[in-house]
Amino acid sequence: MHKRILSVLYNGKMPLWVFWALLTVVYSAIFITIEFSGTPFSSFQGFLVIFSQWCVVSLAAGGVLGLINFNRIIFAVLFPLLVLLSVAVAYFRISMGVVLTPVCIELAFVTDMKTSMTVISPQLIASELLGLGLAGFIVWWRWEKVHIGRRLCAYIYMAMSVMLVVLPFAVKRISAPVFNRLPYSLWYNIDQYLHNRHNIEEYRDTFDDVSVTKDGNAPDVVVIIGESLRADHLNINGYGRCTMPLLSQDTAVVALPNITTVPFHTFRSVPHIMTRADSVNTEAAFTEQSFITLFKKAGYSTAWLSNQDMLSSYAYFMHEADSLLYGNAVKSIYGFDKWLDIDLIPHLESILACGVRPKLVVMHTIGSHWWYKSHYDDSRAVFKPEINSRVLSDLTDEQLINSYDNTIVETDYFLWNVIGRIKGRNAVMIYISDHGEALGENA
Ligand SMILES: [Zn+2]
Repeated sequence: MHKRILSVLYNGKMPLWVFWALLTVVYSAIFITIEFSGTPFSSFQGFLVIFSQWCVVSLAAGGVLGLINFNRIIFAVLFPLLVLLSVAVAYFRISMGVVLTPVCIELAFVTDMKTSMTVISPQLIASELLGLGLAGFIVWWRWEKVHIGRRLCAYIYMAMSVMLVVLPFAVKRISAPVFNRLPYSLWYNIDQYLHNRHNIEEYRDTFDDVSVTKDGNAPDVVVIIGESLRADHLNINGYGRCTMPLLSQDTAVVALPNITTVPFHTFRSVPHIMTRADSVNTEAAFTEQSFITLFKKAGYSTAWLSNQDMLSSYAYFMHEADSLLYGNAVKSIYGFDKWLDIDLIPHLESILACGVRPKLVVMHTIGSHWWYKSHYDDSRAVFKPEINSRVLSDLTDEQLINSYDNTIVETDYFLWNVIGRIKGRNAVMIYISDHGEALGENA
């Protein structure tokens, strides 16, 4: 029997749909699996949930492979290109924890060729050559050994491919998980980058009619935009656990526990913080320049230090500042290694060391963003047991709240470090979280 199968494989013709299925399995087993590598789970049920997500992303990948596979000339051109790009994404993810984001693409454009070349290693070249060799063999096989078959089969095949490609666009629930992984991430991140560029270059209402007095003795201002921090989880606001051991001892710290946010997600909330937008005038968030321009008019040198994704709703403000620096430019919520705000401190030090003043520094932090465990150092894991699975049904409320509170201990440490850098200067630090976090209440 196996001789017959081998004979068909080597001498016969393989139906297109069989080739498509095999290709999808091989591509998914390598590249989609690497995209899911490191995803934590703590039970068999949790594994099944992650495996089902892997299947959805693999099916969507199968749609793309199906479309380019239909014609052998198109396949001969596009498949090696797809492998070349997929190998690069997988290589950087495995070797450096880099996840493809719009910021990666922006940095690739602004980084000079000499610096860019430093990321090209012999291992990357070897991986690419291996990938291209394999792709070449598959293209040859597709060219010589695969037949489309009956017309009806071809129609069904095309319909299925198109349906699988359209699926993540039609079903919003799976859009982000599919678009942020191969092969869709190759298109999606470029699309997001171009969308951000469009927003950065759009016209916004300026503050030309506002008269501003320059004062060389004005204080330096550090504005920190927090992430998902609940006011009721701070011991300085009466929370039972000591989540802010350092700041709660600082008598110069003033807490304002009754500030609320109108939007409850980052995309809308950050523009609300940056502009005069409020619950009545929501449009200003997307039509006005931010307070950064006002500070510039007042003679401030301005900087934006980012430890977050760049979203189109606030990309404009990031580029409004005189300088833009990243703490972790290559991190994404689709990776699970450490992504800490403390990484912004060297950038803050370099900005403060520069002689020009007064200064405005906006620090956009990752704070208490979900997957909490990525956002605090293990030495600040005060509350245990912590979360150990990406699948919510694997976790207890206690684990969730413990890890969430650990992110606040980390934020306390980060803010304490910022205060340490501006102590002794004529300076003020303002911290405001973009919104709170649901921790299973009313579930
Ligand atoms: Zn947020």
